[in-house]
Amino acid sequence: MNVKLITITPDAEATMAYIARVSSPNQENPEYAKLLTYCLEHQHWSVFEHAYMTIEITTSRMISAQILRHRSFTFSEFSQRYSEPMDYVPVKARRQAEKNRQSSVDDAPVHVRSWWETIQQDVFADAQRAYEDAISYGVARECARAILPMNTQTRLYVTGSVRSWIHYIQLRTKADTQLEHREVAEGCKAIFVEQLPSVAAALGWA
Ligand SMILES: Cc1cc2nc3c(=O)[nH]c(=O)nc-3n(C[C@H](O)[C@H](O)[C@H](O)COP(=O)(O)OP(=O)(O)OC[C@H]3O[C@@H](n4cnc5c(N)ncnc54)[C@H](O)[C@@H]3O)c2cc1C
Repeated sequence: MNVKLITITPDAEATMAYIARVSSPNQENPEYAKLLTYCLEHQHWSVFEHAYMTIEITTSRMISAQILRHRSFTFSEFSQRYSEPMDYVPVKARRQAEKNRQSSVDDAPVHVRSWWETIQQDVFADAQRAYEDAISYGVARECARAILPMNTQTRLYVTGSVRSWIHYIQLRTKADTQLEHREVAEGCKAIFVEQLPSVAAALGWA
């Protein structure tokens, strides 16, 4: 998993504050931390739709499928129709949670974990071999990719307003989000905190 800032609206916080003061004679006021906090507390969400951030995320197809559900973002994802697939992203074996079917517990026995590590490598190596054979027989990449597992690595660019990033990070850093997705969201949160310190402080993230 890797996340990297690609771009953000210049002076993002100052820009949002300037726009928030649309009805004020004091629009150029350089103090904006309190104003942005007020807007957050009162859910003046439109203010947070005037600055955008693009993040590059490297993860598995399993997790990118979840990220792509955040419909307010704009995406560009690595295409397996044009290029060879890259690698696979190993996933730890966790035990199925007893009550919550969408959750797991990180206490699987050591022998299960090491079996899982090996089987992932083997399955990916087999799938990759089959993929390469298919390509060598002239099968199109768009067909050959059907054999690849969900842990195949992918890369996507995600662009969204500060509003969308706030809600994505709030939701996907919660305990009920799958661990591998939480790790991506925590990476996005670290970028958010660095780039938008006043908003992050108002959210209790910094
Ligand atoms: C734990 C978990 C389990 C899931 N399980 C399933 C499943 O089994 N099947 C399935 O199909 N999908 C599942 N999902 C996906 C989920 O249903 C949504 O599709 C996904 O989280 C995208 O959210 P969104 O539609 O709000 O998109 P987003 O793009 O994140 O949000 C849409 C818009 O709503 C705004 N918004 C979001 N939250 C707020 C808020 N609190 N206040 C104000 N504005 C807000 C955003 O800023 C944005 O403008 C799951 C998600 C989670 C977190």
